[in-house]
Amino acid sequence: MPPPVPPAPPAAAAPTAPAPQVAAVSDDAYPALPYSDFLANGDDEGRRQAFWVVFHAGEKEARTFALNRWIPVVRVQYTSAGAPGEWSANGVIGMKGTTDVGALLHELFHPVFAASEFHTAGDRDGAWSEAFCNVFRYYAETELMHEHPTKWQSSIDRVVAMTEEQALSGGEQWRKRKYVYPTSVIIKKMGPNQTLSVWRQHWFELLAMKRQAGGGAVLDQFFGYAPPMHKSDVPR
Ligand SMILES: [Zn+2]
Repeated sequence: MPPPVPPAPPAAAAPTAPAPQVAAVSDDAYPALPYSDFLANGDDEGRRQAFWVVFHAGEKEARTFALNRWIPVVRVQYTSAGAPGEWSANGVIGMKGTTDVGALLHELFHPVFAASEFHTAGDRDGAWSEAFCNVFRYYAETELMHEHPTKWQSSIDRVVAMTEEQALSGGEQWRKRKYVYPTSVIIKKMGPNQTLSVWRQHWFELLAMKRQAGGGAVLDQFFGYAPPMHKSDVPR
């Protein structure tokens, strides 16, 4: 008679999430998608290669913000959609053919934000997604572009110097209230001439603040502004 099979040990408790800290990352892990899935539906190979270099470097930076909560980018493709760039939760980034390369940096932060504690259904903090992507772009452009300040950074700097009333008057209200103005609010709060690594440190502090709040929204109060959640919230 065979010996009785010992009972299975109790299942180990699920590991708790590691404390947030900047992970050491290996170059070997980047980029996660093959070149054949990167802007393959265009006809300007020089532009594609130049964008690939920025994508590669930008993804590496973005993943240091994401730690273990990254949503992999599986394809980047040209699209005729309305927005200059667009990230989908299935990991596809769409770009208009006329979009400058910095927009890729914006799109690369969407998987970080969407996988973070700031993105919970119905939570007001989710309204900050576009501004956070822009802030990542702002500091990443300083480190990854040859030009400084870039044209796009200068457009943000002009708004940083404005009052809220000036910044939000006229023009396309959705873009101002959801994208440009809240970006300027964060950059103003960071202070002049900051770096990507200071912003990363601040990002982890904001996440810690979010956890300490026990799930409630924290960003509107912290930054003193409430970006619209939906287009329908914005006056026309
Ligand atoms: Zn976006």
